[in-house]
Amino acid sequence: MSEIFTSASKEPDGTDPSGHQRLSFDLDADICVVGAGLAGLTVALEAARLGASVAVLEGRHVGWNASGHQLGTVMPGFGLPIGELIARIGLEDARELWSLSRQGAEYVRTNASEPSFPGIALSEGALEVSNVDAGETLISRLQTLSEDFETEVEGWQVDRVRDELKTDRYFHGVYYPKAFQVDGRKYVHGLAALARRAGARIFEDTPVVSIDPSGIRKRIVTPSARLRASHIVLAGNIHLGAPLRRLSETLLPVWRYAAVTAPLGERLAETISFRGSVTDSDGIDHFRIVDGDRLMWASPETTWGARPQRFAGAIARRIRTIFPQLGKVEIAETWGGAVGQTVHGMPQIGQLRKGLWVTSGFGRQGLNTSAMAGQLIARSILWGDERWRLFSPFELVWAGGATGRVAGQVIGLWERGSSAAAGALARHREKARLRERIAEARRIEANRLAGTRPQSRPPSGRPPPGRPRPQRPRPAAPVDPVEGDGDGT
Ligand SMILES: Cc1cc2nc3c(=O)[nH]c(=O)nc-3n(C[C@H](O)[C@H](O)[C@H](O)COP(=O)(O)OP(=O)(O)OC[C@H]3O[C@@H](n4cnc5c(N)ncnc54)[C@H](O)[C@@H]3O)c2cc1C
Repeated sequence: MSEIFTSASKEPDGTDPSGHQRLSFDLDADICVVGAGLAGLTVALEAARLGASVAVLEGRHVGWNASGHQLGTVMPGFGLPIGELIARIGLEDARELWSLSRQGAEYVRTNASEPSFPGIALSEGALEVSNVDAGETLISRLQTLSEDFETEVEGWQVDRVRDELKTDRYFHGVYYPKAFQVDGRKYVHGLAALARRAGARIFEDTPVVSIDPSGIRKRIVTPSARLRASHIVLAGNIHLGAPLRRLSETLLPVWRYAAVTAPLGERLAETISFRGSVTDSDGIDHFRIVDGDRLMWASPETTWGARPQRFAGAIARRIRTIFPQLGKVEIAETWGGAVGQTVHGMPQIGQLRKGLWVTSGFGRQGLNTSAMAGQLIARSILWGDERWRLFSPFELVWAGGATGRVAGQVIGLWERGSSAAAGALARHREKARLRERIAEARRIEANRLAGTRPQSRPPSGRPPPGRPRPQRPRPAAPVDPVEGDGDGT
């Protein structure tokens, strides 16, 4: 069963949704959701399951943007590294948020196991690999994850990683046996099917052009109809636009591009034996094997939208850089989508004012996090569950408008450049250590033959006492554009 050529505009049962319903008549609902991506559809499904009348208004079609073009890797956690999460809100709240993110992942698994998700190709395990030789960091991270955050993880030594991924680019790895992957495109359409079955009404080709959130019954305006609802949930990600432009401006749009290769035959299995998803710790590469012998790979990012086909060559070159033994790889299909990146790296989940909700800013990790957000918001509206308040420390911060995009692109390129430099340095050190070990063995053998004692040498790989270890450079802290010098320049 092919898991990659599902059209983003087709339902899982093969019906063509171009006959989807537009909102062409005025309507009343308990909840109006703006946007039919992962975020909006999960709120709709959960609220409908809890008995609310729900209308979803989608400007294009279900899964039109990132949600219909993702790689389907479902992991616990957030875009913000765990250490930074603890530093920001403390261990106890960080544990609680992490646990919610795990429940989000399990929610996706439960949905994907429903019969309305045929051929979703659930496969197990994800591996996060390090671009640098970071054994000590890895051990402390493993301890945090398994002891403090009750997450099943295994630490893989360099040899184990390189046994499964034949490249000298990656060093240690953190293996998540409970992470999994689905066919991302099928998942979003399956979610829409589930929401409809639960009673939610989804209107496509229906952009929301304005909202009036004041009053108990809020008003929503589309080109050909009006809607009134007690709650509005804004799930439009970076494309929300006119209804609340200031909210859109708290997100830095990042377009991420992906491709799938033509079949690579035996050489792929000889190069990669790991069957789950692989991501690197710098968030640059993300790949896995699909359809037995094809490689699905996401890598380049821009802060402006471009035709994904333009990046086919760049992805092929990236694959060749990491796995040169694969030789020239042919790209069969490319695609891309825009994710909304917040300044603090955590999603935007909560109530902006009475009855006006936001679920957005899921960045590169949107499957488990949007699932978690959908449950939190639906339960708060219908049951009064207030756990979304755990996200209150991550307030809305202006992402810098057009100037912020340029700065974001520069920082992104800079981070990639730093990561490449750190990786090259780590590989250079590894080779130097190997050369030293060979030279040492030769010296010992020569001494043995000559009947002399070996010279003592400082242990390899450690800087002499007093000299600081080289540190990986970090990007400058983002300037708060509201309080700082306006455009961040
Ligand atoms: C290449 C790529 C690979 C990825 N891989 C993974 C992965 O493996 N795992 C993972 O967890 N995440 C992954 N992600 C991230 C994930 O796809 C996103 O975080 C997630 O899809 C965001 O969902 P969303 O519903 O917030 O936004 P969107 O998918 O952007 O949906 C928002 C919807 O709202 C609609 N809309 C906006 N404004 C309006 C309006 N005014 N009126 C009506 N409708 C409106 C839009 O048309 C759109 O359909 C990936 C992303 C990309 C691009």
